[in-house]
Amino acid sequence: MNKATRKAVIAGNWKMNKTPAEAVELINAIKAEIEGKDVSGCEIVTCVPYVDLVPVMEAAKGSPIKVGAENVHFAASGAYTGEISASMLTAIGVEYVIIGHSERRQYFGETDVTVNLRTKAALEAGLKVILCVGETLEQREQGITDETVSLQTKVALLGVTEEQMKNVIIAYEPVWAIGTGKTATSDQADEVCDVIRNVVAALYSSAVAEATTIQYGGSMNAKNADELLGKVNVDGGLIGGASLKAPDFYAIISAAQK
Ligand code: PEP
Repeated sequence: MNKATRKAVIAGNWKMNKTPAEAVELINAIKAEIEGKDVSGCEIVTCVPYVDLVPVMEAAKGSPIKVGAENVHFAASGAYTGEISASMLTAIGVEYVIIGHSERRQYFGETDVTVNLRTKAALEAGLKVILCVGETLEQREQGITDETVSLQTKVALLGVTEEQMKNVIIAYEPVWAIGTGKTATSDQADEVCDVIRNVVAALYSSAVAEATTIQYGGSMNAKNADELLGKVNVDGGLIGGASLKAPDFYAIISAAQK
């Protein structure tokens, strides 16, 4: 695999944090960090709560920061109280969406099947998808990490065309490493990202696999980003906690330039 063929994507997942005013403040702080620096080595994305999308897009205008949502519903419209459709997101100019985050799977009944429905709806609407997969601690201890992420990836991508794969980023996020301060070792991250890449190769082709960005997510921070991002199969990061602090997020962006 040739990592040089893929652009790194460093994406922040703000989760349920930041009011609109606080969100604008954080975007301005990130902009100040990247001002005058060469950040062309990675795509920078911030995925934010729905109410922050418009103010964050306004604040990010003229900067390299792209904006994403944290979830999307699979129906085009209808009686789904509290939900947001893909066309609502594209109508306001949103480019990215996270789908299948483990917190959605754990707390909101997300399944591989609904992840697949959301992925197809988002891609059909023209969104770029950050598709999350990852094993629980129990699954890792049972020795079924590879099987778990392979199955999640296969089901999520059912019916997704080769052309649409250009808009799919896969985030390998071991559930036991999210928000826990426990990071997968760089070798563990590299190994599982490679497993996912092989699944993409089997489903599509080695050319598609080689072109697909596969991120690692799980307690990535200013200190460990260099080592994780240095691995051949790790093409970026999905970052929770550290994306809420502009200097830390910038340190990860900067690690992705190497
Ligand atoms: C995440 O929310 O996707 C994540 C990786 O969180 P954290 O970086 O805080 O572990």
